[in-house]
Amino acid sequence: MNFVIPPGPRPAVLVAGTSASFPVRRVYCVGRNYAAHAREMGSDPVREAPFFFLKPADAIVPVAASITVDIPYPPQTANYHHEVELVVAIGTGGTNIPAESANDHIWGYAVGFDMTRRDLQFALRDKGRPWELGKAFDHSAPIGPLFSASQCGHPSHGRIWLTVNGATRQEADISDLIWSVPETIAHLSKYFALYPGDLIFTGTPEGVGPVLRGDRVDGGVEGFGELSIRII
Ligand code: MN
Repeated sequence: MNFVIPPGPRPAVLVAGTSASFPVRRVYCVGRNYAAHAREMGSDPVREAPFFFLKPADAIVPVAASITVDIPYPPQTANYHHEVELVVAIGTGGTNIPAESANDHIWGYAVGFDMTRRDLQFALRDKGRPWELGKAFDHSAPIGPLFSASQCGHPSHGRIWLTVNGATRQEADISDLIWSVPETIAHLSKYFALYPGDLIFTGTPEGVGPVLRGDRVDGGVEGFGELSIRII
């Protein structure tokens, strides 16, 4: 194709155990998908339909295994938060995907951080405005290597955790998800046609909190890798 400006690189996630990468199309995120986190955000964790927001694909920062990547403290916030999440990578697209067959659409899983300018998110939320300034900023989606479902299966339980400077801040089990991964895909695919390359951040457990320059943030999901960043 003949572009008038250089088209730029395609955002991509690393794949564990290979030199290959997974090209990213869209980044969907689920809000309040663990009951205790919904409570700490000031909501009743009733099982109302899940809600979604998006980040731009180029908010992804791919992080290799056993590497700590520097992430810049973002501008225009005084309350920059960590959120550790199980991330689902879509390998086969579809619309109106039934939960019963949703796993067939999953290429694999990774650990991601839904980094958040909490002060901006809350100010926007309280005015009924869109969340992009709080959620969709540059470098807001560090993500570890993908583990293929064909090799690692589909997790229904497993520890999800996050530490700041070695101290545990978030610790739960992905079986605590209010909406399971297949249920989330079923809901999301009613509203958007999913395509190969789409990522879904499935929500964070309780214990979110601020990070500062110099902090090291580690997180993981049992069986699906770890992720390490340093805030600079
Ligand atoms: Mn989140």
